[in-house]
Amino acid sequence: MSDRSLIFTYTISAILFILSIANLSKQETSRKGNLFAIIGMIIAIIIAILKSKINNIGYVITAIICGAIIGINISKKIDMTKMPQLIAILHSFVGLTAVLVGFNNYLLLIYNNIIFNNNNNMQLVEIFISIFIGSVTLIGSIIAFNKLSGFIQSKTFNIKYKNQIHIFLLLISFILMIIFLKIHNIKLQILSLGLMFLVSLLFGFHLIMSIGGADMPVVISMLNSYSGWAAASSGFMLTNDLLIITGALVGSSGAILSYLMCKGMNRSFLNVLLGGGVKKNFEQNNDIIINKNTQDYKNISIGNTVEILKSSNSVIIVPGYGLAVSQAQYPLSTMIKKLGSLHINVRFAIHPVAGRLPGHMNVLLAEANIPYNLVLEMEEINKDFTDTDTVLIIGANDTVNPSAQEDVDSPISGMPILEVWKANNVIILKRSMNKGYSGITNPLFYKDNSYMLFGDAKDTINKMLEIM
Ligand code: NDP
Repeated sequence: MSDRSLIFTYTISAILFILSIANLSKQETSRKGNLFAIIGMIIAIIIAILKSKINNIGYVITAIICGAIIGINISKKIDMTKMPQLIAILHSFVGLTAVLVGFNNYLLLIYNNIIFNNNNNMQLVEIFISIFIGSVTLIGSIIAFNKLSGFIQSKTFNIKYKNQIHIFLLLISFILMIIFLKIHNIKLQILSLGLMFLVSLLFGFHLIMSIGGADMPVVISMLNSYSGWAAASSGFMLTNDLLIITGALVGSSGAILSYLMCKGMNRSFLNVLLGGGVKKNFEQNNDIIINKNTQDYKNISIGNTVEILKSSNSVIIVPGYGLAVSQAQYPLSTMIKKLGSLHINVRFAIHPVAGRLPGHMNVLLAEANIPYNLVLEMEEINKDFTDTDTVLIIGANDTVNPSAQEDVDSPISGMPILEVWKANNVIILKRSMNKGYSGITNPLFYKDNSYMLFGDAKDTINKMLEIM
């Protein structure tokens, strides 16, 4: 394949990836975005195989077929609620690849006896950085997988001087890089590379252990960004321009998403990045008065809930993680049609970190064909709760927790939340008084205008539909 046609096809792939990201940013065009990415990736794989002039192409094709079978199987079986774990573990593969490519390239330099060539310095820097970013991504993604699966506690791992420890580990890695570049002794070079690998694993472990609770969404998008940079660094080592472009696209879009999520959650990006030192940008909201002494909540029946809904002019539905668990979006879609036919103004309020995945709720509602124009983001709808008759909360908890505004000591203090309590009636569908992801109690459930409707959300909505 000539250099010209290589550059041409790489450019086509890169354009397809950019178009994919642009289209994925809107629900209406996201399927098209996915298609662009698939075509771009198929072109990229074919070109990479042709370019590398592999002798035993059979091995590569077998590996691709095996990978495709495993991938199709997993994606068919995986529950939507387990998607974040899947994404986290997939990011760990990207990290592992960068580590393996790094070590492989280093061994090739030794094997070809060109390790101490003077013009090798750039290559050695690429190897070192790739192994560093790769191992941080690898271990960080494994920790995130365990936190999201509930195998280890999600709350932040707090030790004294954690920022100083991070800076110290970065400094040691930098010193090891200087040794790796300057010392012309294979044993010492291998030792410094091996030590850096261990230090970066420790750094990645502590970095992700230090972030937790309600800040976990930022961890997911941050690891997405790291995996992009790990892929880009592999691209430098393999002199594959398309891998550099793709990695940079993933890395920068993940970083922008992390920044936007931090903004949405009123967190300082740098502090979350350094391990969850939360900046409390707290404004006392005088509208909220929570009676901390009372621990009484009020139950409501299915019949009364239907009556309240039918007599409302405006209803806002707030979905959360519980909607995904119970898969209640389908009966919910029928319910909003029924309410719409009664001329009730029904809308959805989406918190940026609702569920367990950025955009989780939007995907679920789209699955059930709930019209996009009824689905509003937090900033668009938060002011409307005051004029709303009834709020129906379906499996949401942390995202409607008023402690974020009124309790400075709360782990979610300062995080913007949906101000549901400002409506006339708030009905909460969940199975028990259990806490949400961040493990904190929710004073909303004890408010005068709040009513608990216990049960699995899907069963409850189905029962409501029977008498609507
Ligand atoms: P929460 O996790 O705060 O609460 C979900 C609630 O759903 C639980 O209290 C649970 O109560 C209820 N529930 C579970 N199963 C069912 C069911 N079958 N039927 C009815 N209710 C059910 O959800 P939110 O969406 O409000 O908040 C998301 C949280 O997850 C935030 O803290 C966010 O930071 C975090 N997070 C978000 C990520 C993202 O990218 N969006 C990623 C990782 C974490 P009960 O058991 O009593 O039924």
